[in-house]
Formats: sequence, structure tokens, C-alpha cells
Amino acid sequence: MKTPPSFITRFAPSPTGYLHLGHAFAARFAFEAARAVGGVCHLRIEDTDRTRCKPAFDAAIADDLHWLGFSWPEPVRRQSDHRADYDKALTRLHAMGLVYRCFKTRKEVIEAIDRAPHLPLTKGDTATAPQKPPFTGGPITTGEEMDLMAEGKPYAWRLSMARCRDHLGADWSRLAFREEKLSSDQGLKTQIITVVPDLFGDEIIARKDTHTSYHLACVHDDAHQNISHVVRGNDLFAVTHLHVVLQTLLGYPTPIYRHHPLLTDDHGERLAKRNQSVTLRHLREMGKTPEDIFARIDEMTAHRG
Ligand code: GLU
Repeated sequence: MKTPPSFITRFAPSPTGYLHLGHAFAARFAFEAARAVGGVCHLRIEDTDRTRCKPAFDAAIADDLHWLGFSWPEPVRRQSDHRADYDKALTRLHAMGLVYRCFKTRKEVIEAIDRAPHLPLTKGDTATAPQKPPFTGGPITTGEEMDLMAEGKPYAWRLSMARCRDHLGADWSRLAFREEKLSSDQGLKTQIITVVPDLFGDEIIARKDTHTSYHLACVHDDAHQNISHVVRGNDLFAVTHLHVVLQTLLGYPTPIYRHHPLLTDDHGERLAKRNQSVTLRHLREMGKTPEDIFARIDEMTAHRG
């Protein structure tokens, strides 16, 4: 009998555009990490935001990744097929009294951040501070809430940090995760990161429009897919603090994390999905091979040190 792999990771793009060089760079980290130890790397499609995700981009993901030479177990997990799971997780947090409705229409602030889990690049590669003020508004009164519900006003669900603190008791200050970093000699350096549970304040964990959030769907799926190692970009380092809180509340294990640097252009900016010239699709059409893609990536990273 074959023993199950002890290293299980995932590559989890959102189909909001065609994959580009930055994705090829990130995919290589995840797929290579698994390959190096005889583990598995799943492909997961994070498409809970139906307004931004497009079927054409979704179909192109597997096609481009196969072209690059990566493979993964089937079936691919597509988050839009599993809304009921995320609803259940939310219901559990609700039953524990840890979430509250938020009717705020500060759309720009709230939704912009929640739609893009990525934080702007900050100096160094272990950004810990979120790029927005944490929300600490707290719940409104039951009376106000009833009125707004009667009006049919849409609402999001926020995680109450004050209640989480009470709920977790002494564990609140003991939360931590293991971060592995590739060191210059290609070995792995392990660091234990102490979690700052309220780094994001009362974060939205179920959006008004999608009824879930990247955070909730991500921690649920990592547990469901037995992910032992999360290999992803540094822009998601900070949200790991919140993810560990959610994992602890929901009784999910905390995986080991490996946050890798992001591929940046000559100006130090992240490659944007809207920049067609760096999409794998475009480069393929131009006659480039997967070897050319990785050679270009190596060149881009080499001259930046
Ligand atoms: N879906 C996220 C993205 O588009 C990745 C989330 C993760 O790896 O945790 O990059």
C-alpha cells in the first residue's frame, strides 16, 4: 500500500485575468517544493468573486500551467462549487457568538481590501503590517440591526476580536505559526512567528456580495485538502495572522508556511494582470517556450539580487 504524501501544498490562483510571469514564478515555488520531496501540489481555483472571475480565465489557468510542465491531482477544487462549506464555517462562528453583521457602506475601504487579499509591496520580504487601519467599530445595537434588516439593507459579517479574545482565553497570546524560508545556501530556515491576532481589527469574513471571503474559504480549503505546507507570495504574509486565528477558532490545523518573494518589474512594481505583454498566453503566441519563460524569470530575479 502506498503511504499518503506528507507534503501537500497548493497553487491557488483566482481567474480574474490570464496568468503572467509572476504566476509562473509563484507556481514554480509551489510545484517544485512538492516535487523536491515527493509530495503533492494541488491546483485550487479561488473563484468566489463571480463578478471578477471569468470562465475564459479559469479555462486558461490549467492550460497555461500544463504548458509550463506542471501537473496536479484531479479533480481541481473550484471554490464556487463549495459555497455551502463556507456557509457552514460561518454558521459555526456565528453559533460561537464571534461574528456580527456590518451594514457599513464604506465600500471603497472595505470592499477594495477584501477583494484583493494582496497587500501592496513593502520593503523587505516579511511585511507584517496591514496597509489599512484595522476596523474596530464593533457591532451596532440589536434595535438598529433589526431596523436595517427590516429595510433589507445588505450586510457583511465581521469577526469580533474582542469576543475572540474572550473565547480563546490564554491561547490568544500563544498563537503562532511556523515560517520556512529558503536561505542563501538553498536550505530551509525555520522561524516561529508569534501571531498578532487583531492585526486587522474586526475583519470582514463574509462579504455582502459573495457571502464568504478569501480568508474563510482559504482556511477551510487548506484544512479540507490536508494542506501541510502553504507556499505563496509574501504579499499574503500578513493575512496569515488572521488565518491562524480562524484556524484555531474552527479547530483546523495550522499548516507550515513558506512565503516567497514576488516577481517585480524593473521599477520594483508587481506585475499586473492587466499588463498583457507579460501574460503566458501572449508570450506563447509570440513563440516563446516554457524554457524561455523560466529563463526570463531567472534573469529578472538575478539582476535584482
Ligand atoms: N487566490 C490567491 C491569489 O490569487 C492566493 C491565495 C493563497 O495562496 O492563499 O493569489
